[in-house]
Amino acid sequence: TREIQLASRPSGRPVPENFRLAETAVPALKEGQVLVRNLFISVDPYMRGRMNDAKSYSAPFALDEALDGGAVGEVIASRSDQRKVGDVVVHQLGWREHAVVDAERTTPADTTLAPASAFLGALGMTGLTAYAGLLKVAEFKPGDAVFVSGAAGAVGSLAGQIAKAMGASKVIGSAGTPEKVARLLELGFDAAFNYRDAPVLDQLKAAAGSNGIDVYFDNVGGDQLEAALSVLNVAGRVAMCGAIAQYNSTEPPAAPRNLAVAIGKQLTLRGFLVGGQRQHAAEFAGRMAGWLADGTVRYDETIVDGLENAPQAFMDMLDGGNTGKMLVRL
Ligand code: NDP
Repeated sequence: TREIQLASRPSGRPVPENFRLAETAVPALKEGQVLVRNLFISVDPYMRGRMNDAKSYSAPFALDEALDGGAVGEVIASRSDQRKVGDVVVHQLGWREHAVVDAERTTPADTTLAPASAFLGALGMTGLTAYAGLLKVAEFKPGDAVFVSGAAGAVGSLAGQIAKAMGASKVIGSAGTPEKVARLLELGFDAAFNYRDAPVLDQLKAAAGSNGIDVYFDNVGGDQLEAALSVLNVAGRVAMCGAIAQYNSTEPPAAPRNLAVAIGKQLTLRGFLVGGQRQHAAEFAGRMAGWLADGTVRYDETIVDGLENAPQAFMDMLDGGNTGKMLVRL
């Protein structure tokens, strides 16, 4: 079987030489374990941080070993009463074709609700991030005007649509290409702009109008956070979900320069990790299944075929090559 290993740690933007495709033997199954043939693996922005040798909320990847991350696959052998051959499960041993996993570290995916890939996106960690970030962290309430950055990506596109579904007065999204901006309008965003076209602050002010914004769902950081801080209303809330503008940086960010406006406007800025929001998983899963079934929420996927192309898919995702969730199909 094959796996992708970390061959060297990237400095700045990752390059193909940081990764290695390796042949390896499938380990024997121990009692309580299952053998999973991965169908889709997830490539995610947080993995960039784990490629550095730095202490963070998740441990660094080890050199010359397989990378890991979210995956969904089919059980093809089982030594556990909990999972049987044919079950489709989500687990954390991605970046490889076959995974030997403790059955208790797998979650069943109900593929009568949606295709297996959705359990890495709208119905999985990505969807819970959007849902909990908006409703629990930013404490969105009906009537709020919301700005989402990284809005055509996996988390952002869901966050914006959930805000619409829950009664936002306006939802504004930013993204990096004209095609993505057009897609946001199709998905029901009230306004969208390309952050590369003109200063974010000018574009956000124009989109928000005199009502301003009440909630900012931040996937990007940097100048988009700075602009949002300027446009947020008194008592506005920011869900600090990600700061992808700085994941490849070797220098400290130049923005935001205006953090002190948070004092006068009595803003709340709250960072969060989806891992700390699991208590909302059941509520989220029920609601999201309903929204997908009745078409209230739609999701895009950008699918790359072949494990050997996973490093390129990861690098392309960091560069904006995806609309919706970036996935590798094996
Ligand atoms: P996306 O699907 O949004 O993919 C990443 C996108 O980021 C790209 O498509 C690109 O879109 C955009 N991007 C890249 N560089 C920049 C830049 N310099 N400025 C602005 N946009 C940029 O990924 P996810 O939906 O998986 O993740 C979105 C964010 O949410 C990330 O910051 C991630 O770290 C965070 N996250 C946080 C979690 C948590 O627990 N807190 C859990 C999951 C995700 P474009 O073409 O528009 O530039």
